[in-house]
Amino acid sequence: MRPFEYERAADAAGAVATVAARPGAAFLAGGTNLVDHMKLGLESPDLLVDVTRLLPATIEDLDGGGLRIGAGVRNADLAADMRVRTRYPGLAQALLSGASGQLRNVATTGGNLLQRTRCPYFRKSSLACNKREPGTGCSAREGYNRDHAILGASEHCVATHPSDMAVALLAFDAVVRVQGPDGTRSIDLADLHRLPGDAPERDTTLAHGELITAVDLPALPIAARSAYRKVRDRASFAFALVSVAAAVELDGDTVADVRIALGGVAHAPWRGTRAEEALRGRPATEASFRAAAHAELQAARPLEHNAFKIPMATNALVATLRDLTGASGREEPAR
Ligand code: SF4
Repeated sequence: MRPFEYERAADAAGAVATVAARPGAAFLAGGTNLVDHMKLGLESPDLLVDVTRLLPATIEDLDGGGLRIGAGVRNADLAADMRVRTRYPGLAQALLSGASGQLRNVATTGGNLLQRTRCPYFRKSSLACNKREPGTGCSAREGYNRDHAILGASEHCVATHPSDMAVALLAFDAVVRVQGPDGTRSIDLADLHRLPGDAPERDTTLAHGELITAVDLPALPIAARSAYRKVRDRASFAFALVSVAAAVELDGDTVADVRIALGGVAHAPWRGTRAEEALRGRPATEASFRAAAHAELQAARPLEHNAFKIPMATNALVATLRDLTGASGREEPAR
C-alpha cells in the first residue's frame, strides 16, 4: 500500500472542501471497499478524509411515510429497522443477502452505493482493464466472462455492479442527497450509476469532492408487498449472478402496479421498465410474468460464458412475482 495522509473532518462542508481541492484525495467511511482496493494497489489516494463521525447515522420519517436514511447508517442497522422491514421488506432482504454479518456491521449506506465492480480483471493490476487504466483494453471481453453483463454493456467494459442494496433502492425510486463544493443537490438513484459507454472508469455521475449525505425513500405503499431474490454460487457469501427486486399491487387478479429492478446483469442496477410496462393491467399469472421478463431481456447481449443469465434472470423474476402474488400454475422454467 502506498503511503497516504489521513485527517478527520470536523463537518461535511470541510470534508467536501478538502477533497474537492485535492485531486488525489478520497472520503473514508466504512472503508470496506476502498481499503480493500488500496491493499490491492487498485486505488492510491494520497489523502483520506475520514467522514465516519460526521455522516448522519439516523433513519428519519418523511412526510407521508417515506424515510430519510443517513449515509452513515450501517447496513446491519438499516436491515433491522422495523420501518424498513414493514414498508420496504425487499430492501431489508437485499441488505441481508449482501456480504457477511461482520461487513454489514461496518459498511455504510453511502459506501454501499459506491462499491466498485468485482470483475476479477479489474482487481488484478497486471491485467488490461479500461476501468482501472483507461485505454488498456478489456480482458473480460475475450476472457472468462461468466459473471459479467448481459445488458447495457459496451465494447470498453462488460462489468456488473455488485450492490444488492442499490437494486432494491432503484426499484423503490430512491433519491440520493449529495453535498458538493457548490452546495447540495438531489439525484434520482436511476441517474447515479452510469453505464460504461466509452468511459468505464467512471462508475457514477458524482463529481470529485461530492459526498453522499443521505438517501430518501419516497412513501410507496406498493413496496410493502416487495421482495428481493438473489441467485449466487453459494448462499453464505457471494455476489449476485442475477438478482431481482420487485413490488406488486394487485386489483383482484390483475396487476395494478409493479416495480422491478435487476442486479448482476449490467454496469449499473437495472430498472425493468419494459417488464413493468408489459405487466401493468395484465392478469397476475405465470404467463404474464414470463412475457414481462421476455420484454425486458430481449435486449440482452450475452458474452461467451454468460448466456445462462438470460433464463436465470427470467426464472428469478417469474419466481419473485409468483411469490409476491400467490400466482399458481407452475410452468416449465426457461432454458
Ligand atoms: Fe475492466 Fe470492465 Fe473489462 Fe472488467 S469488464 S476487465 S472492469 S474494462
